Amino acid sequence: MSRAYYVTTPIYYISGNPHIGHAYTTIVADVLARTARTIGPTFFLTGTDEHGQKVANAAAAAGKTPQAWTDELVPHWKALFAAYHVEYDDFIRTTQARHVEKVQRVFERLRERGDIYRGKYEGWYCVYDETFWLESKLVDGRCPTCGREVQWISEEDWFFRLSAYRDRLIEHFERRPHWVQPRSVYNEMMAILREGLEDLSISRSSLHWGVPIPNGGVIYVWLDALLNYITAIGWSEDATRFHTYWPAQTQLIGKEIARFHTIVWPAILWALGEAAPELVFAHGWITVDGQKMSKSLDNAVDPFMLAQRFGADAIRYFLLREAPFGSDFSYSEEKIAQRRNSDLANDLGNLLQRTLSMLQRYRDGIVPPADVSRSELGRRFAALHVTVRERILDLRFREALEGIWELVTALNRAIDDRKPWELHKNDRTSELNAVLYDLCEGLRRLAIMLAPCMPERMREMWQQLGTPGRIDEDWSVSLRGWGGLAPLTQTALAAPLFPKMDAVAPT
Ligand SMILES: [Zn+2]
Repeated sequence: MSRAYYVTTPIYYISGNPHIGHAYTTIVADVLARTARTIGPTFFLTGTDEHGQKVANAAAAAGKTPQAWTDELVPHWKALFAAYHVEYDDFIRTTQARHVEKVQRVFERLRERGDIYRGKYEGWYCVYDETFWLESKLVDGRCPTCGREVQWISEEDWFFRLSAYRDRLIEHFERRPHWVQPRSVYNEMMAILREGLEDLSISRSSLHWGVPIPNGGVIYVWLDALLNYITAIGWSEDATRFHTYWPAQTQLIGKEIARFHTIVWPAILWALGEAAPELVFAHGWITVDGQKMSKSLDNAVDPFMLAQRFGADAIRYFLLREAPFGSDFSYSEEKIAQRRNSDLANDLGNLLQRTLSMLQRYRDGIVPPADVSRSELGRRFAALHVTVRERILDLRFREALEGIWELVTALNRAIDDRKPWELHKNDRTSELNAVLYDLCEGLRRLAIMLAPCMPERMREMWQQLGTPGRIDEDWSVSLRGWGGLAPLTQTALAAPLFPKMDAVAPT
């Protein structure tokens, strides 16, 4: 079996309800997975990170056991992903036995190899980030990442010899300058490596909510969490399955967790005799008034409300189109409404409606035959999908959509320039057939190429076009050459794809 495309999101720390930032990462992974599935075997993993002190504290505050607390929260996350049409292949929870057993096996392996040792941890801990900090790293006595108070910890713990992997990490970074993206994050990680690495405490002897280790204590939640990427695909259990997927092609993360994913994670993998992932991509933050969106900043927008108000596919489109993937971008409902009205309702939705209504008027809704070899649009756009797919898998979503929009614009222009109503009035049958056919074939291709981004609305468009077959089949078949749409296809007239909304006033 050939290597599959394996994409992961971070598993989400389940200390509260999800916000739009969580949906963002997962939507991006979904777009990648849907695109990769048009080529071959693909696996898309997401899930929840359920151990650690923050969860234990939140559960205690709610008067519940941590397990009952997480059991109650998980359905909210699954519902969010469903609301945004996300189709993952697996949803892992770190409290599941399939994960816990393998994390314990990892611990045993590391101990056998001498990669871990027992020592005393004394220092600071940020419960919010579940991160240990040296005194020298604190900023005004607070966590350098989130600015919260830290607590003093003094306990006997297990340590992973992270420092021993420093040279290999530096070499890996130098040899594969694109394995961490964007460049700003790569540079930041390189600076950390150059400064030097401390060994990492990988247990918490005073905590009980986690993967238990012999002689008491639990495994540090970050080690536990990182391992999900390999426990879910059968590490130490099914070598064939595991090596079909590992190393992952694309691991998506938020930039605040880059250190764990690009320094600790490869070192742990090497200690286990496994390869580092091919790409770790740290995306930007969605900001509101320049502040990172998060529950704690109290500016989180209810993502369910957003999907209901604008439509999940319009939000998906907005998130991919608004800024290059990797940079921060500021969220506002005004911008979402603008994008929805201009790009989706005007450019795309109107194109479909105009085309289908002309087809209805002039050809009873039936796609006419045409000589596609003479189509100028065909010459220009028959290979567009190759570029689009390349850009998507390269995580250049905005450029991919810009490329697709060139076709949208060209089809709209074709209507204005070739004036089908005049061709009809003057009985120029073959010219009218040619333009109507081009429009329908162009729309069919748009539906296919936009389906990973807007799966639900594009299925609707597909149905209106009356096209037989599956919208998500191999692009090298469905998009091979201009002219895949069979003449005599009966199209339908239906409701607008993106009904126009009232403009949203700036806030
Ligand atoms: Zn913190």
